[in-house]
Amino acid sequence: MSVELSVVVPVFNEEENLPELYRRLTAVLGTAASSWEILFVDDGSRDRSWEIIRGLAENDPRVRGLRFSRNFGHQMAFAAGLDHARGQAVVIMDADLQDPPELIPQLLAKHREGFEVVYAVRTARHGETFFKRLTAKLFYRLLARITSVQIPLDTGDFRLMGRRAVEAFRRLPERHRFTRGLVAWLGFPQTGVPYERAPRHAGTTKYPLRKMLRFAVDAITSFSHVPLQLATWLGFIVSGFAFFYILVVIALKFAGISWPGYTSIMAAILFLGGVQLVMVGLLGEYVGRIYDEVKHRPLYLVAEEAGSREQGSMRHT
Ligand code: UDP
Ligand code: MG
Repeated sequence: MSVELSVVVPVFNEEENLPELYRRLTAVLGTAASSWEILFVDDGSRDRSWEIIRGLAENDPRVRGLRFSRNFGHQMAFAAGLDHARGQAVVIMDADLQDPPELIPQLLAKHREGFEVVYAVRTARHGETFFKRLTAKLFYRLLARITSVQIPLDTGDFRLMGRRAVEAFRRLPERHRFTRGLVAWLGFPQTGVPYERAPRHAGTTKYPLRKMLRFAVDAITSFSHVPLQLATWLGFIVSGFAFFYILVVIALKFAGISWPGYTSIMAAILFLGGVQLVMVGLLGEYVGRIYDEVKHRPLYLVAEEAGSREQGSMRHT
């Protein structure tokens, strides 16, 4: 059974936002599409989110829910949502109403013009700290410089994907997932629709600095080898300096100037030690990811479903 539009919503401890999200989504979807479903993916919430989702699914056959066996992360919730969505087009959006449901008709309109992927571009971000806005801005620009895939600037995961893009996306098996990069990698005609990102409706961010950093490192390592190549460039630069320095030392020796040398040796040791540790750490980041990939674990485990008869499924690659 297929519907015209699915809306996939990852949920992690969002009990205060779900009723309002449901209200605003149903109001918009009623006029936007002839048949639709909302698919909540509960990413191991510890509050009442799952009970609320189950309640919504019982009262409204257009609502379905998946519940992970634990917290697998936002990006895995997208993977699960796209695996289970039945829509000819699929919108993915956050549960906290920072992504306005009212933008969905515009995304659909662009899709009907022939764009396979329509992403929402944030022209302003309200209610987020200066630090978050600044780091996000710098991050997207750095990423654009060091990747070969054109990842649109200032774009979150809020987007619409057509069935062809969804099926292509489902063939990407990797474990460290940076959804916006992967979707860009797919190709197909893509376009953006501008919007202003609202503050959170309720609750606090589920992305503390630690998760944000992991997310950034996943993004960079998934789409760029530039950090690995840094070792080569640093090596050349350091060797260049060293060669010059050796000439200077020899010249001074001939001129009869020599000294105990503690300072220069310490400087060289500290500098080289630092560079080497950084590069070893970088290698570790990539090697760790290779290890995670070769283990071939499923991306996520579904413990429970609501509003659907299928039981406990998981994704094999
Ligand atoms: N989320 C999730 N799993 C997590 C963290 C977050 O499913 O481990 C969901 C969360 O419920 C929300 C979305 O991902 O729907 C975005 O999270 P949040 O709004 O906290 O991030 P921010 O907007 O602050 O970057
Ligand atoms: Mg948010």
